[in-house]
Amino acid sequence: MTRTALVTGGTGYIGGEVIAQLLDAGWRVHTTVRNVAKSEPRLRARWPDAGDRLSVFQADLMSDDGWAEANAGCDAVAHVASPFPLSVPKHADELVIPAREGTLRALRFAVDAGIDRFVQTSSAAAIAYGQPGKDRFDHTDWTDLTAGVPPYIESKTVAERAARDWVAVHKPDFTFCSINPVVVMGPVASDDLSTSVEILKRLVDGSVPLIPNVGVSIVDVRDVAKMHVLAMEAPAATVRGERFPASESFLWFADMVEIVRRETPEFAGKLPTRRMPDWLVKLLRPFSADFRQLASELGAKRDVSGKHAVDLLGMQYIPAAQSIADTVRSLAAQGIVKN
Ligand code: NAP
Repeated sequence: MTRTALVTGGTGYIGGEVIAQLLDAGWRVHTTVRNVAKSEPRLRARWPDAGDRLSVFQADLMSDDGWAEANAGCDAVAHVASPFPLSVPKHADELVIPAREGTLRALRFAVDAGIDRFVQTSSAAAIAYGQPGKDRFDHTDWTDLTAGVPPYIESKTVAERAARDWVAVHKPDFTFCSINPVVVMGPVASDDLSTSVEILKRLVDGSVPLIPNVGVSIVDVRDVAKMHVLAMEAPAATVRGERFPASESFLWFADMVEIVRRETPEFAGKLPTRRMPDWLVKLLRPFSADFRQLASELGAKRDVSGKHAVDLLGMQYIPAAQSIADTVRSLAAQGIVKN
């Protein structure tokens, strides 16, 4: 029988790819957006053949309105929506409150609808921060909030902890697990870019004059979506309570620049060529929260292993170099970067 999934945040980079792969796999999909009038036409244009296999509902993380309707008739939930801004907000609560409240709201309404599988889009942000000196991480690690971390990192850690605490207390009939992606790259479907893709766009479009001494673990958006689908379709015993870091490999920004130069030389013209000295980042620290965040990342290696999903779900990751090249080509196809 055809199963129905609710995907929260259908306008987003990851949410959109999860919808695409669920439709491809034969699911019916409900999705929530903040503004149906604005977003439904764009979603219908992306999946013109979906017809009544795709239903769009209006719901905000901060209000109960619309959640019962969105969940009605669903068998599974992928809770993807959460604020992921490019700049650091003044107050952590701007991110922490919607992330936590939205997650608890999604769980509560899922119980009422009688679903059997709940997949939370958490993050490596809930795994790999606040542990100075450690550079390799896996599904058993948790970010230490007592160390003081940036607001987005806090929001994702608090939201995943809140979900797991809620599941432990309420013992719902559904099976819960989380997908914890590192920095997500890969083809974009619109010019509304996720913060993670903005990093690469800025390297390629000349906005970053010097290469800072920082790096990130990378995973492809197609793999992140695939992991959501696998987590929704796998036997309950395989995924119950699990955390699945989604990660292909760690790259320094200098490595990313070299990959763009090698794989997509037609877009290499504006790439930075020189390194940004650490002292310069530190000097700029007092002037913005973004530089303070950058300074806190200098030289930090956070190599997150994605092997747990290989072992339990049979994942095979797209190589990071291919993700980067495909991202750049799709940014060009959207007219966002030019050669
Ligand atoms: P995105 O493109 O910015 O998508 C975020 C989604 O969340 C959008 O659909 C947005 O809706 C929705 N949202 C934000 N605040 C909301 C609110 N108050 N009420 C309802 N919806 C709200 O970012 P993304 O990269 O796809 O991220 C999706 C999820 O993956 C997030 O949970 C993020 O933390 C997680 N994640 C992302 C990465 C990454 O590198 N991209 C890595 C790890 C985890 P609007 O369109 O209305 O703003």
